[in-house]
Amino acid sequence: MKLYSTNDKQNIVDLKEAVLNAFPVDKGLYMPCHIPTLPAEFLDNLSNYSFEEIGFQVSQNLIGDYIPEGDLYQLISRAINFPAPLVQLSEQISTLELWHGPTMAFKDFGARFMAELMSYFLKNEDRATTILVATSGDTGGAVAAGFYDVPGINVIILYPSGKVSKLQEQQLTTWGKNIRALEVEGVFDDCQRLVKTAFLDEDLKDKYSFSSANSINIARLLPQSFYYFEGYKQLRDKSKPIAYVVPSGNYGNLTAGMLAKKMGLDIDKFVAATNANKTVPDYLSSGTYAAKPSIPTISNAMDVGDPSNFPRMKALYEGSDEGSTWNKLKDDLVGYSYTDGTNEKAVGQIKEDYDYLADPHGAIGYLACIDFLKDHPQYQTVFLETAHPGKFLNVMEPIVGTFKLPQSLKAFSEKNGQSTLMDKSYNSFKEYLLS
Ligand SMILES: *Cc1c(COP(=O)(O)O)cnc(C)c1O
Repeated sequence: MKLYSTNDKQNIVDLKEAVLNAFPVDKGLYMPCHIPTLPAEFLDNLSNYSFEEIGFQVSQNLIGDYIPEGDLYQLISRAINFPAPLVQLSEQISTLELWHGPTMAFKDFGARFMAELMSYFLKNEDRATTILVATSGDTGGAVAAGFYDVPGINVIILYPSGKVSKLQEQQLTTWGKNIRALEVEGVFDDCQRLVKTAFLDEDLKDKYSFSSANSINIARLLPQSFYYFEGYKQLRDKSKPIAYVVPSGNYGNLTAGMLAKKMGLDIDKFVAATNANKTVPDYLSSGTYAAKPSIPTISNAMDVGDPSNFPRMKALYEGSDEGSTWNKLKDDLVGYSYTDGTNEKAVGQIKEDYDYLADPHGAIGYLACIDFLKDHPQYQTVFLETAHPGKFLNVMEPIVGTFKLPQSLKAFSEKNGQSTLMDKSYNSFKEYLLS
């Protein structure tokens, strides 16, 4: 499998290089040189395949014989060892629950697959690798779970102080062993900047072997395409055109859906559902991309003002110039954004109307389904439920009252964490890495 960088099409690497060295020096993002259309036999008979088999078919078509079949199958069955059930709420609205993994957010899919792939590639290396990961809430925990106690791999998690929920913080800070957490006095974008700068820092390169576990890592993206197939498979009514509605922050999840469509899955539209951080909806309406500082909201995993996967979305819809890329993207992608107040009301409404608990991120997806269906009444919509509501008790409980936490979240909530507090300057971070 070959990949190119979105900033320089001549910069071509193989999968191992792209996974272990997630940031090309030209500061682009890796994308597959070739995105295959999957065989009709597979696309037309999804219900004959288990979720694990779907993952295998999709990856094998993408990766080819770069990883031997047996190894690839094993890797996938270890990574994707939990389901993604579709729950139908009303005739035209379903939700795909992506939180059945160990840390109860969809990040488990990408993080576990990436951890398996990195471990596979690093099996015979004698140098320890340090994985740097900036998190707005859920990525760090999923990456920690994927790499916990893996020999030869250390993980450093950077998270914005005071901007993640208590339970999310416990999922970042209670591991010990090869996992360390840094509490950065800043916002998510500061954490991301620190990681990117460290990556390109020549002083550090000589001393350490770094890799990044952020959604920019192509290994995170690939497995996120699997569940678009899995969700489609479970839809009872496939007669209407299908729109996937994706609560979005860095747009890894949505880009993976676009990849699934490119591979032949019959998705008609995508909906970017956002909170006040609406850089992409603004781009869709104006044609101009303007990065903004992130604004804290109650759907904190989407508090991203300069989404890191945006160049990948543009690459998938590349036209002859900026204007034609914008037009092509707009054909497939619609955007909506919501305030915290509307978001809170939606959480209560979904509980009342369907006796269903949606977390604040999923609830934004639900709101976007409603608005999308107003403009496009002929569609079938599926919103992605990106995390278990129990991860956001501070938001949920005042609205829906107390509810029972699943065992795995309860276990985290009973532990005390450890983290290092740090200002947001690169010098402090570098000093920490060097010490
Ligand atoms: C990460 C995350 C998102 C945003 O996903 P992106 O791929 O960054 O767009 C949405 N909801 C939850 C719960 C998340 O953890």
